[in-house]
Amino acid sequence: MQSIEPLVILIEDEPQIRRFLRITLGDHGFRLVECTTAEEGLNRIQANQPALVLLDLGLPDMDGLETTKLIREKSSVPIIVVSARDQEEQKIRALDNGADDFITKPFGTGELLARMRAAVRRASSKGEENKNQIFTADNITIDFERRIVMKGDQEVHLTPNEYDLLVVLVENPGRVLTHRQLLKQVWGDQYTNETHYLRVYMAQLRQKLEDEPARPKHLTTEAGVGYRFRP
Ligand code: CA
Repeated sequence: MQSIEPLVILIEDEPQIRRFLRITLGDHGFRLVECTTAEEGLNRIQANQPALVLLDLGLPDMDGLETTKLIREKSSVPIIVVSARDQEEQKIRALDNGADDFITKPFGTGELLARMRAAVRRASSKGEENKNQIFTADNITIDFERRIVMKGDQEVHLTPNEYDLLVVLVENPGRVLTHRQLLKQVWGDQYTNETHYLRVYMAQLRQKLEDEPARPKHLTTEAGVGYRFRP
């Protein structure tokens, strides 16, 4: 009988982390294929067509950025990078180049599983044409066709840049978007270093949309990396 549990390819050279993930993921409905080098991982991705890739950034044969780029040349499989605290820069570059999310060692099981499920869900809903022109999360509603945003039953007036920034975030629910990705999509290629724009505009969006702007529930910050819309 064919298993319907999502197949995960884990590319990680540390035996202890592999053992931890083997036990954890097996208990929570994922099948795991373990690889210890980037090269082996790349071959397996092509051969096995996984639902998700967990990619350690500290591999013996290739750096995380290069591995991400090579995976992306062949596959749109969601990639979650697993990084150590001292790999911030590599992590951000991997995200800029097509990784979907990250988790930092040491990580908790609950957080990892939530990230994995969200990434698999996003990927599987991507194929379906989104005919729904209305987005709703909590008390926030966006009518994409008419470019109208409501909070509860009140219309919220957003500037064009605020609106564009909000739309980029909600179109990737639960996914971290880097400063560079957001700046590029909303302001354009020449503005990818202007992270202060994001601070200003995110503060404005929170002021207009969050119940408690100082403690945002939906428009959340990933320190040093970017922002995320939590539905
Ligand atoms: Ca490693």
